[in-house]
Amino acid sequence: MQFDIIENPHPVAQDRRREILADPGFGVHFSDHTVIIDWTDDGDGGSWHDARVEAYGPIALDPAASVLHYAQEVFEGMKAYRHADGGVYTFRPRANAARMNRSAARMALPQLDEEAFVESLEQMLAVDSSWVPEGEGAALYLRPFMIATEAFLGVRPAREVSYRVIASPAGNYFGGELKPVRIWVSRDFTRSGPGGTGAAKTGGNYAGSLAAQAQAAEHGCDQVLFLDPLHENAVEELGGMNVFLVTSDGRLITPQLTGTILEGVTRDSVIQLAQDRGLAVEERRVTLDEWARGIEDGTIVEAFACGTAAVITPIGELVDGETTIASPGTGEVTASIREELLGIQTGAVADRHGWMHRLA
Ligand SMILES: *Cc1c(COP(=O)(O)O)cnc(C)c1O
Repeated sequence: MQFDIIENPHPVAQDRRREILADPGFGVHFSDHTVIIDWTDDGDGGSWHDARVEAYGPIALDPAASVLHYAQEVFEGMKAYRHADGGVYTFRPRANAARMNRSAARMALPQLDEEAFVESLEQMLAVDSSWVPEGEGAALYLRPFMIATEAFLGVRPAREVSYRVIASPAGNYFGGELKPVRIWVSRDFTRSGPGGTGAAKTGGNYAGSLAAQAQAAEHGCDQVLFLDPLHENAVEELGGMNVFLVTSDGRLITPQLTGTILEGVTRDSVIQLAQDRGLAVEERRVTLDEWARGIEDGTIVEAFACGTAAVITPIGELVDGETTIASPGTGEVTASIREELLGIQTGAVADRHGWMHRLA
């Protein structure tokens, strides 16, 4: 794909950028550029056009743009790390490209070539590689997304769509050490249901999770655990992370993909790394009861959540209404799979599965 490149005439001053990169936080600062590819359907099935790199800045949208009313949008999240060889690498970008297309199909948005998706990330890094922070666990977070821009209040798939990439420097998500998180078990809200949009990475799922997240915060919890009340409160996932349990005899249990949970690239990679070590991985229905009983009788010895932003985070406590179930702290399996995965991503551990892709 041919990209026009219009460099930002007013990039962030070098001193200011250095200041930001020294303490980037998460999702609050953005690099100098954005990548854009537009899509229009003139009754010909639609095509992508006007691929370009521009200065980062506000989007001019018609107030009737469908994304603003009917939330027709999907997004992705990935990280780019600077390795010791000076190159900037990202993790399994084709898996994200394929997932964006599955999400897009569910939300009646167009398919974008995997090649064009990967190229859009390369274009981003070609202009903004100076925004990749250095330091333990720090990365440039990449946020590709697709929005329905057509000005039309009728309800049907939009005929004008925009795909974009923005980039945001990110520090170590939970600040270095592995601090186990406190999880709020949501009994009032679910995230998804059969035939719904749970498997799509789409903004509406997040909008629907915010009230539950607010309840979690009120109860001093960091994250929400969503259940499937139609199946004896089977464990689904957190608002933006998949869940694993580790048994005392060295098995990993994670909820199977039934269409109501999001298929994490991290989840898939953890399964692979666990199997490489000879650990059995069970993808199956696991209820909150089984989890609680397992903690009590010592058969479940670790639990962790995983996703791109935080990589792997141990789960410390489950708060279920008045009851608090203390999960054992950071276990060995959690810590060592995390170390290996993060090592592959940052270039400290050999990439035996060919997961890393050089962007710049
Ligand atoms: C993005 C996301 C995840 C994690 O996916 P990764 O590819 O591992 O980052 C898990 N659950 C939800 C709901 C998500 O949106």
